[in-house]
Amino acid sequence: MAETANRAKSEFLSSMSHELRTPMNAIIGFAQMLEYDSGLSADQQDNVHEILSASRHLLDLINEVLDLSRIESGRIELSLETADIATVVDDCRHLIEPLAAPLAITLSTCVPAGATVHADRVRLKQALLNLLSNAVKYNRARGSIRLAVEQRRSEAGLRQRISVTDTGIGIAHDRLSEVFQPFTRLQTENSEIEGTGIGLTITKRLIELMGGVIGAESEVGVGSCFWIDLPAGTVARPGDDAADSDGTRDEKLQASDEQRVLCIDDNPSNLKLMAQILGRHGNLRLLTAHAPQLGIELALAHRPHLILLDINMPGMDGYEVLAVLQRDPLTSRTPVIAITANALARDIERGRAAGFLDYITKPIDVAAFLRVVEETLETQRSPRSE
Ligand code: ADP
Repeated sequence: MAETANRAKSEFLSSMSHELRTPMNAIIGFAQMLEYDSGLSADQQDNVHEILSASRHLLDLINEVLDLSRIESGRIELSLETADIATVVDDCRHLIEPLAAPLAITLSTCVPAGATVHADRVRLKQALLNLLSNAVKYNRARGSIRLAVEQRRSEAGLRQRISVTDTGIGIAHDRLSEVFQPFTRLQTENSEIEGTGIGLTITKRLIELMGGVIGAESEVGVGSCFWIDLPAGTVARPGDDAADSDGTRDEKLQASDEQRVLCIDDNPSNLKLMAQILGRHGNLRLLTAHAPQLGIELALAHRPHLILLDINMPGMDGYEVLAVLQRDPLTSRTPVIAITANALARDIERGRAAGFLDYITKPIDVAAFLRVVEETLETQRSPRSE
């Protein structure tokens, strides 16, 4: 139900945004033509500028809502690969410097040579541009911005932290988490700063889809630091156990034996999302089934180490699939994790009682999801030797 409603909302937003773009383009186009009309009085020219600036703002808003609804409904293509951070940062620098220069804001970057992340380059650039343009917009004249990259080791493996620190107006502590909510704009009551209040919402969603985390620290009147943690890039490919460029290796990727994860879900975009999230594991093979019966057949044929099972599927729901798997000695001991939009406590209770090892609710929190998958696979590794 919730899933259907969510999909309907995203589809509505996306088709509405499409519908709005056509007339907006006409308004902007014709207003621009008026701009060239030498017969206009000074007042009329001012009015045309007002129309243009409001329409451009509205178009930005429409584009961002469209982007957000695409991201939320899982309809974006992420191409996760090892990306050189310095190259992406250089691209951003060229786009941001023209915005910073008129305010005499300096931009310095410190990116260790060879530092890489596992991410979609285009979307990483989009996220960094959002943080950098905010660091310009909410800075003070003659202020500064520093972008730094630092390697960290967390329980989820090797990570790169990209931080953007500014010397701007800052954000009050108790309002810091609000900035990642859609349409939140804090200092705009009497401010001229342009914006839609969706940029950070989109950035957060994108970073999470790429298996990362975003956060911020700030002090009013001193400045803000927004940071992104992403998995470090790796040269490991399925069957390839080469080390990272710095000679270290992600511990979770070290085991050479391939582990198979089967995902059974009737929604193709969820399967695509799974493929993208789990694709970053060099020694993990994802099998997918878009129909329950096919899922059972694949489970019996390939004996996966973990099964991710959607609950709401046509024909046969997740509970019925689980019962079949539990009855067959080939799969009776395979851990099965439910992935579903049914997030009510009683659904979770029912799921656990039925024998699901864990219950993950949509929209998926990628970092938490990866942790559960890794932990489950870890427990599967030792007793099973094939
Ligand atoms: P926009 O900048 O379009 O309003 P964002 O989603 O990017 O939207 O940011 C949301 C709000 O968070 C901004 O309106 C601003 O109030 C606050 N904010 C974001 N970045 C900073 C920053 N570097 N310093 C101070 N405030 C910021």
